[in-house]
Amino acid sequence: MADKDSLPEAVKENVARVFSNKESDALDNILSQEDDYFMPWEDVVLPSKGVYYDNLMPDGIIKVKPMGIDVDKMMANQRIVASGELLNKIIEACVKLPDGMTVNDLLAGDQYFLLYYLRGITHGNDYEFVSDCPSCGTKSTYDYNLSDLSKTIKGPNPDYPVEPMEVELPYISEKTKSSVSAMVRLLRVKDMRDMVRGNVVIDPIKKGKARSRGQSNGISKQSADDIYTKNITTAVIGFKVDGKVFSDDRKDKLIEKLHQKDTVTIREFIDSITPGIDTSVDVTCQNNECNRDYSISLPFGENFFRPSKK
Ligand SMILES: [Zn+2]
Repeated sequence: MADKDSLPEAVKENVARVFSNKESDALDNILSQEDDYFMPWEDVVLPSKGVYYDNLMPDGIIKVKPMGIDVDKMMANQRIVASGELLNKIIEACVKLPDGMTVNDLLAGDQYFLLYYLRGITHGNDYEFVSDCPSCGTKSTYDYNLSDLSKTIKGPNPDYPVEPMEVELPYISEKTKSSVSAMVRLLRVKDMRDMVRGNVVIDPIKKGKARSRGQSNGISKQSADDIYTKNITTAVIGFKVDGKVFSDDRKDKLIEKLHQKDTVTIREFIDSITPGIDTSVDVTCQNNECNRDYSISLPFGENFFRPSKK
C-alpha cells in the first residue's frame, strides 16, 4: 500500500478489515528463511573446466543462482542497458566467482555458457526467440530447448593447457622459407568488452518502442567486421620466427600482411581449442512463400528474461 489515504472510503474500510486479521505467522515464517532458501546456490561446471584460470577454479566448478529482482532492476536501468554491460552485471549478480577473479577474467565461451545456464535455472529451458529472415525479412518466432546446448559443450583441448598456444602459419612459412608461428591466447570477457564497446549486445526493450540503433538482436554488420579484425589482433599476442619470439609493435604490422590462408589457419586453430558452447541454430523462415533455411547464433532476445509464453 503506497498511499492508503488516497483510497476511496469503501476500499479503505475493506483494506482495514483485511489487515486487521493479523495472522502473520505464515508470512513471518517465509520471511525468516535465509536468502539461500529462495534462490539456492548450486554448483555448475564450466566448459573450460577451469584450465585457463591459474588454478583459481579447480575443475571449473563455481556456484550460480537464479536471476532475481536485482536483475529486474538492472534491466530497468537505461544506463546499464545502454552501456552494453547488462550481461556482465547479470553474471556478477548470479555467479560466485573465486577470490581473485572478476567477470573480466572469464573466457568468452564460459560467459556464454553461464548466461544460458542462468536463464535455464531461472525460467526453464524453453526459449522462444525472434529472427528476421535474411531473404524476405519476415520475422518468425522459434522455440528452442536450452538443454540441447549441453550437447554442444566443448571442453579444453588437453594438447594446449597453457597460453600462449603456438600455431604454425603455412603460407608465410613457405613464402619466407622460415618457420613462422602465431602465438595465440584465448579471448576473455575483458576482450569482448573492448571489442563491442558502444554496441548494445542485448536489447530487452519490448517491440513497438522506438530504438536508437541497430537491430534488436546483436551487433550491426559493420561492427561485426570490425570485431573480426580486432579478434585476431587481440588473440595473436606475438609471433615466433625461426625459434625467436617477438611481441612488439611489429606484431600488428605482420598481422596486416598475412595471407588469408594464414588468418584462416589462426581462426580455425582458435576455434578448435576454445572451450564453450555452440549457439548456432538452424531455422526455417515461417513465411510460406519463402521457407528458406538459414543458420543464426541463438540471440539474447527479450525472452531471455522471461519464460516463453505458452
Ligand atoms: Zn523468408
